Amino acid sequence: MELTGFSQEQLDLREAVANICSQFPDEYWARHDESGVYPHELHVALAKHGWIGIALPEDLGGVGLGISEATMMLQTISQSGAGIAGAQSIHANSVNDLRQVISTGLETLKLQTRAIRDGDSYKISGQKIWISSAQVASKMILLARTTSLQEVKKPSEGLSLFFIDFDRHAPGLELKKIKKMGGRAVDANEVFFDNYRVPADTLIGEEGQGFKIVLHGMNAERCLLAGEALGLGYAALEKASKYAQERVVFGRPIGQNQGIQHPLAAAYMNLEAAKLATYHAARVYDTSGKDPNVTPHAVGVACNSAKYLAAEASFTACERSVLAHGGMGYAQEYHVERYMRECFVPRIAPVSREMVMNYIGEKVLGLPRSY
Ligand SMILES: Cc1cc2nc3c(=O)[nH]c(=O)nc-3n(C[C@H](O)[C@H](O)[C@H](O)COP(=O)(O)OP(=O)(O)OC[C@H]3O[C@@H](n4cnc5c(N)ncnc54)[C@H](O)[C@@H]3O)c2cc1C
Repeated sequence: MELTGFSQEQLDLREAVANICSQFPDEYWARHDESGVYPHELHVALAKHGWIGIALPEDLGGVGLGISEATMMLQTISQSGAGIAGAQSIHANSVNDLRQVISTGLETLKLQTRAIRDGDSYKISGQKIWISSAQVASKMILLARTTSLQEVKKPSEGLSLFFIDFDRHAPGLELKKIKKMGGRAVDANEVFFDNYRVPADTLIGEEGQGFKIVLHGMNAERCLLAGEALGLGYAALEKASKYAQERVVFGRPIGQNQGIQHPLAAAYMNLEAAKLATYHAARVYDTSGKDPNVTPHAVGVACNSAKYLAAEASFTACERSVLAHGGMGYAQEYHVERYMRECFVPRIAPVSREMVMNYIGEKVLGLPRSY
């Protein structure tokens, strides 16, 4: 990656995080992908050096940096070969956004999980899917409906946010691990609540205002995922360039053939363009709220576009890398098949490519809402 334009603080951060990640070689991630065992050691190593909670305010025990730096950190983790799995094991703890359990899929406003006030507590019932790290989490940020859809004027009303203990042994809580394509070191789950009781003071902000609170944080998450996608893409290209120099076929390195070289060069330029979009979006996010000229619309456009562009650029880089490896691209030994499996995640989550295009079509181009 070309580093011009980043601040010295960001470059120092990148170097420090890369140094820590270098203790976790490709083989570590391949092993954890195979076994599905959570990569606790990376978390411990980053925590030891104070990097967990990078974008949390200092008075809450965080580092007090911005989403730009958090994006840089997650890109660096991903790029080290840890990939999306490694980044996802840190992602939720890096920032004060509310990503972890805030939505179930694209139709967030239709979510069915209910929280019903009962004296000094709420009783939660419903189901959430694709909840990452639930097997190891002790806390959960939960968005649940406190007023039914029928009783609200707009679907965005009546949703409330909770910060709850996630006690797998308490009555009313069940988990089912989802078997998945990639990123297997970090579990994904279906979570079932059946009158799971939480204290009323776990409510964040006011009852019914949950959606407003999460909306802004969703843009931060798009930047983080964009960074993770970029890291994976650059890692894939590095592996491909190395292999293309070493592998000799018909008497010369395969990288000497333009049929190999040009797709890798094009993939690199795609990543560089997506990198500019990503760090622009993160900067816009970081200045929002401080600079009145930065509107919520501008933040939304920048963050959605960055996530889309980075995910697509990462996909292309991973695909070209697998192909440049020939048959060995399909072998676990070279790691790019793992990257290929993981690069689908930023294309699908936290918001799909199609929904980003719906957003740009409607909110930027002024086209009729298509759904
Ligand atoms: C590995 C992984 C980890 C995840 N972790 C979390 C997590 O920790 N917390 C969490 O809340 N969520 C998580 N998710 C969920 C993720 O955010 C959703 O899968 C994603 O938002 C897509 O929603 P969906 O699966 O409900 O797709 P669906 O809504 O079922 O959509 C299916 C397909 O139809 C398309 N589609 C739907 N409607 C339209 C339309 N109107 N126009 C065009 N296309 C349309 C979608 O783009 C998609 O391609 C995770 C997902 C994965 C794969």
